[in-house]
Amino acid sequence: MSGPAAAHVLDDPLGFARAAGQHHGQLAVSALPRLQDQLAGNAGELKYRVRGGMDPLSRPQLELEITGALHLACAVCVKPLEYALALRTRVLMALPGAVLPDDDDPETPEWIEVGQELNLHELVEDEILLGLPLSVRHPQGQCSSGTQETFGAKKADSPFARLATLLEPGQTDKR
Ligand SMILES: [Zn+2]
Repeated sequence: MSGPAAAHVLDDPLGFARAAGQHHGQLAVSALPRLQDQLAGNAGELKYRVRGGMDPLSRPQLELEITGALHLACAVCVKPLEYALALRTRVLMALPGAVLPDDDDPETPEWIEVGQELNLHELVEDEILLGLPLSVRHPQGQCSSGTQETFGAKKADSPFARLATLLEPGQTDKR
């Protein structure tokens, strides 16, 4: 159950933060279009939970928790791998056009611009894209490739294979 689109919209997000509101929902993995390229399969659902509040500097923020299973492709054998997504992140909110503080602190969370309403569907997808690992692989022993040599050149193309051909008696005689 993904619920109607309206269920994934937060009305008055700044007011939601001031009131320390809470909201949660579920999204089908197949309903996240920008994620599809990175998936080996799109069955299943993700759960998200949003909590409004103020950060220690009294700036309105949203804390976001996203959990569920994603089917990613193993970087070694390219077969599907079930990845347990458990993201916790927070974003600070500003009105569109507001001058964002020039802040070099790497600990500062991402700022997002919010209007009268906030599309949680898009925010959840944004945060998953930011939070996904660059590559995943099966645990050792469970990977169907068996060896790590998939990354290397094929045997026939390796310098040693070519050398072996050159040293073959039949071949050297013809030179
Ligand atoms: Zn694998």
